[in-house]
Amino acid sequence: MTPADAGKLLAHCAMYDNRQPSRAANMAWSVALKDVPLDQDAFDAVARFYSTPPARPGERLWIQPHDVVTHRKDIRRERLANFVFESTSDDDDPFWLSRYRAQLDAVASGRMPGPSQAPALEGGPHPSIADELAGVGREVPGEVAKVRRAGPLGQHCPVCDAPAGRPCRIGTSGRERRRAHDLRAENAKRAAAGLPPVDVAAREAAKQEEIEKRREASRLALENYRARAEAMPTEDAS
Ligand SMILES: [Zn+2]
Repeated sequence: MTPADAGKLLAHCAMYDNRQPSRAANMAWSVALKDVPLDQDAFDAVARFYSTPPARPGERLWIQPHDVVTHRKDIRRERLANFVFESTSDDDDPFWLSRYRAQLDAVASGRMPGPSQAPALEGGPHPSIADELAGVGREVPGEVAKVRRAGPLGQHCPVCDAPAGRPCRIGTSGRERRRAHDLRAENAKRAAAGLPPVDVAAREAAKQEEIEKRREASRLALENYRARAEAMPTEDAS
């Protein structure tokens, strides 16, 4: 860190120990901490130093540059507790070392969260467990299967194409609808009753047929009306 950086860090220290600002101290700390950047971890190191009780009770705490180095190192090491290098490519990646260092630094500085749990050992379960696991997740016939299908969310939505388990979406905006589409809800009811989903094409065809029928009926009614109107004697003729 530069003398100006050291000055900022010392001003932070002063909040704990009331030390007086001094240009000489800024210079000295800047030299002692030339490899340490002035980052949040440096400030946190000061806080950690002053929140740790002194070795001898009653002794006045007075931070030194090496304390910043030690505590900052500890803070970064703790973030690396369960660090696992995530390889992006195969084993003969010529840049793996720089990748490894970049990831190490990202996790140590807190820019990237490290794994919160120790990594599990790889390997399959015991054969006896594997045999029992083979039955897990298979379709259960009868009543239980019916329960799984209950509710619109158990269905794929034929309107917005939402898969089972996901909510309906509004148009192409991607926003979630509060209610499932009517057709999806209807399919859920049909599924609960053991019926196949609505045949949308057939329903549309039936609707068109009904419209055609009504058009034809009103056309006939109009024709009928005209025929009777023509047959009726006019006032002049009487
Ligand atoms: Zn939908």
